[in-house]
Amino acid sequence: MWGTGWRDEVWSQLDQEWDIIVIGGGITGAGILREATRAGLKALLVEQRDFAWGTSSRSSKLVHGGLRYLKEGHVFLTWTSVQERDRLMEEGKGLVEPLGFLVATYKGDSPGRWTYEAGLSIYDLLALQWSHDYYSSEDFQMLAPHLSTKGLEGGFRYGDAQTDDARLVLRIIQEAVADDGTALNYACVEALLRKDEKNGVAGVVLHDMTDPPRAPAEVRAKVIINATGAWADRLREQVGASSRIRPLRGSHLIFLAWRLPIAQAIGFLHPIDRRPVFIFPWEGITLVGTTDLEHEQALAEEPHITPEEVSYLMAAVEAQFPSLNLTLDDVTATFAGVRPVINTGKVDPTKESRDHVVWEEGGLLTVTGGKLTTFRVIALDVLKAVRERLPEMPELKRDAPVLNPVYVEGRSLEPLDEGACPELVEGTCRRLLGRYGAEAAALVEAANRGELRAIPGTQTLWAELRWAARAEGVVHLEDLMLRRTRLGLLLPTGGSNVLPEIRAICQAELGWDDARWESEEAAYLALWTSAYSLPERAAIPDWTLSLAEVREQRIAEQPKRRRRLLQRVVSTVVMAGLATAITVVYLRGRGKVTRPS
Ligand SMILES: Cc1cc2nc3c(=O)[nH]c(=O)nc-3n(C[C@H](O)[C@H](O)[C@H](O)COP(=O)(O)OP(=O)(O)OC[C@H]3O[C@@H](n4cnc5c(N)ncnc54)[C@H](O)[C@@H]3O)c2cc1C
Repeated sequence: MWGTGWRDEVWSQLDQEWDIIVIGGGITGAGILREATRAGLKALLVEQRDFAWGTSSRSSKLVHGGLRYLKEGHVFLTWTSVQERDRLMEEGKGLVEPLGFLVATYKGDSPGRWTYEAGLSIYDLLALQWSHDYYSSEDFQMLAPHLSTKGLEGGFRYGDAQTDDARLVLRIIQEAVADDGTALNYACVEALLRKDEKNGVAGVVLHDMTDPPRAPAEVRAKVIINATGAWADRLREQVGASSRIRPLRGSHLIFLAWRLPIAQAIGFLHPIDRRPVFIFPWEGITLVGTTDLEHEQALAEEPHITPEEVSYLMAAVEAQFPSLNLTLDDVTATFAGVRPVINTGKVDPTKESRDHVVWEEGGLLTVTGGKLTTFRVIALDVLKAVRERLPEMPELKRDAPVLNPVYVEGRSLEPLDEGACPELVEGTCRRLLGRYGAEAAALVEAANRGELRAIPGTQTLWAELRWAARAEGVVHLEDLMLRRTRLGLLLPTGGSNVLPEIRAICQAELGWDDARWESEEAAYLALWTSAYSLPERAAIPDWTLSLAEVREQRIAEQPKRRRRLLQRVVSTVVMAGLATAITVVYLRGRGKVTRPS
């Protein structure tokens, strides 16, 4: 798709009147590009770094309704999300896969069993399915071995889904490009071209971020869409709008699956602040996340986990899996992302809404907030908002599949499962079709001998690296290691041990000489160390102390809690007694209650 010379070709075509320019190559921008091309619009997407470089490669990778959002009263968001989840699971097999979720209930927990039962029933009803069940303590331990059993009463299991977020973005962009869309990574919008106050924005000034850079280009379009997520305020300022984004950071820890073995996701309340935290299996590793904090690091820099966040997440793991004795030596990688949340000034960041917004300001349309899961709905909302400025746009096909079909009734349309590739087992075919869509067959064909094997410790094939280097717009080694493949997250030390093999496959495909490879390798390893590994050990607060403090506090509060419970019981009994007495007096007054003779 993006072979040799593709960037020159795209730059040479920029000088034309586009219908839409989408700024931002995350899931939001990708979704808009896809729906715009489906509507036959001439659409261009530009991304300042790599496709999915922003939050869309740093999410928790869940395609979900969000039980938490239900608890906060966002019923519509949850309903939309579960509908989209089910649609994506159907259309994106091999990329969006079902994932079981477990929620343990412990003695004295709040919320307790019946609150969860009510929440999960509503959750299932919204999806028109019944996926949850309650298990006794013994059965629950079979589902989640190693889980803390102290006070365990039992737990629920329900169904959601997960994906590879960066590959989801890539697949959508690639399908939009196959449908006559245009997408360019490492192209940053530094300024907006203004018509005048009344007529708004006429285009963008685009800077090439590759080395050596081409001269900046002025690119014009009827509609300019700002889909830059946490960075949205930077462009909004240029049309005189005031800042409204509250960047909130969420970080994760990564463990090798054999050290923190779980077969399904486990959700629980953090022992310190009672926020929901998840531990889940993904691509053969185990993720623990997430935090939700004001992001005070510069937005231009790669976000990274702080020592305090490491301690917070380790405390969660320790409290939930005490018998595993996990230490910092077991953490193989970390990553952090920034939520583009709309600032309504809530004291607790977790309480800010996660819904999306579409703002029209001085001719610039900004879309931000929202979730990975709901990208299609967001894209359709955006196109609806620009209809007036694009009167020739046909009616939007709201029911069209968002991912091109590659499976028909469980069978692939591509020749992958028809004997063309006997080396691949069915699960691998499904995975390739999900991730690469119509390009999967070409990927397999491009593989050299032995490259259809998985890289040890992962499900990634060596052939995926060759294909990415050849045809997926890789500009830097980090694109290949962190987003086209996820080896930088899946392998210890960012996959440094397999870099010689990767070089043997990819250097020639990328057209890099030895000096370029070596500088790319050094830059990638420096980036991995600063943003994807643990911070300085000495700076990480001892989480066992925080846990001990919480335990002591709980013990100290026990008499107070008992007193409060007793007060509640007494006042309920008194109120019930009073109500009965009043009813009896009232009814006797009306002659309906008679004294026994
Ligand atoms: C820790 C965490 C966990 C999450 N987990 C989930 C989850 O499990 N499920 C779920 O559904 N959602 C989840 N989300 C939410 C979801 O990830 C985000 O809502 C979504 O990825 C935002 O996508 P976006 O395209 O709007 O922003 P981004 O992905 O950030 O994309 C914006 C892009 O714009 C680019 N850009 C910025 N300025 C310019 C410019 N001037 N020129 C060109 N390009 C520019 C940036 O480089 C960036 O790549 C999570 C979020 C976080 C932070």
